[in-house]
Amino acid sequence: MTTLTLKSGRDESLLRRHPWVFSGALRREDMDVGAAGETVDIAASDGRRLARGACSPASQIRVRTWTFALDEEIGPAFFADRLKRAIATRAAMNLIAPQFACRLVNAESDGLPGLIVDHYAGFLVCQFLFAGVERCKNEIVEQLQAAFPAAGIFERSETEARSREGLQPATGVLAGREPPALIEIREGDVRILADIRKGHKTGFYLDQRVNRAMLPEFCAGADVLNAFAYTGGFGLWALKGGAKSVVNVDTSAEALSLAQRNADLNGFPAAAAENVAHDAFQVLRRFREAKRQFDVVVLDPPKFAASAAQVMWASRGYKDINMLAFQLLKPGGFLFTFSCSGRIPPPLFQKIVADAALDAKRPASILRFLGQSPDHPVLLSFPEGHYLKGLICRVD
Ligand code: SAH
Repeated sequence: MTTLTLKSGRDESLLRRHPWVFSGALRREDMDVGAAGETVDIAASDGRRLARGACSPASQIRVRTWTFALDEEIGPAFFADRLKRAIATRAAMNLIAPQFACRLVNAESDGLPGLIVDHYAGFLVCQFLFAGVERCKNEIVEQLQAAFPAAGIFERSETEARSREGLQPATGVLAGREPPALIEIREGDVRILADIRKGHKTGFYLDQRVNRAMLPEFCAGADVLNAFAYTGGFGLWALKGGAKSVVNVDTSAEALSLAQRNADLNGFPAAAAENVAHDAFQVLRRFREAKRQFDVVVLDPPKFAASAAQVMWASRGYKDINMLAFQLLKPGGFLFTFSCSGRIPPPLFQKIVADAALDAKRPASILRFLGQSPDHPVLLSFPEGHYLKGLICRVD
């Protein structure tokens, strides 16, 4: 097996079981060693072997660790074990049921760097994000079929992370039946159509499930603004909670047309939900000028900061949209506000929201601190896995 050796003093991160090895931590002579996806050993500068991982020659993250057990072979038994454990965790939380959706495998945090597997009512949707999982795709799919009886396994590997690794986008059936154009899933009593073949991510934002479920208790008789609505998830929960009206705002007209179908599917009156296909910043500004007010505002924007260099710019975006939201809230109203930028840590996000409230001259307090759903676990040795944070605020 090829062994890559770390520079002296660079073994701390692996000793703390962080799963990534950056190219800069490797000895100069090992910088160009290892083929895409090849299984390699990593050794400290004194030759002690520390971990075994998959090589990504095109990435700054040169090796992603499969295992710290140095006798463990990366083959069918390894994948079977990791998949079994990941699925057992979800089963223990009662998240696996025929009509429901949840994440079965959350990449690094389930010991399978670069692999996402989501379950949608009998179908599995996978993303193979890096060279290591790409190389082992057939083995992984075989073990997945053995571990989880599904009608079909569909691939949605068209992410930016993949192109950064020099891998082509890949979409299509990996095993079993082709999924239908839309799959109906349930969250609690809410019925949702998910487009697993063409929708965002693997079809639906499963990471927000626990947070959507918190909305109803704030919504009886409420006028709700759901900004960055996608297919209306938060809006549907608001209507379930007895909201008087919901305005869904999203730039994607396609997502909003599914939001409308979702509202119909749940039997909500057509007049209850308004869908505005436009830039949320502009729409919220327009509402402010029109002195339109809401009891509840949900802000769930896309990732504004994809790199460290974008944090400043992203912070301004978050502050701007949160300030507008505070200005649109009636006294005593509630703000559900989120950031899914891993680069914006929770304390910074809280500060941005606090600055936004100050600028809006709306004193507010935090009622709850939110994060991603528990089927998106965060390995303690991999804090980067914690990307979604949210706050429920109440304005005076
Ligand atoms: N809240 C949703 C997920 C939102 S994801 C749910 O629970 O399912 C972020 C959404 O923001 C995407 O649907 C994307 O189309 C939309 N979006 C991106 N930029 C936008 C903008 N400037 N204005 C409005 N929507 C935008």
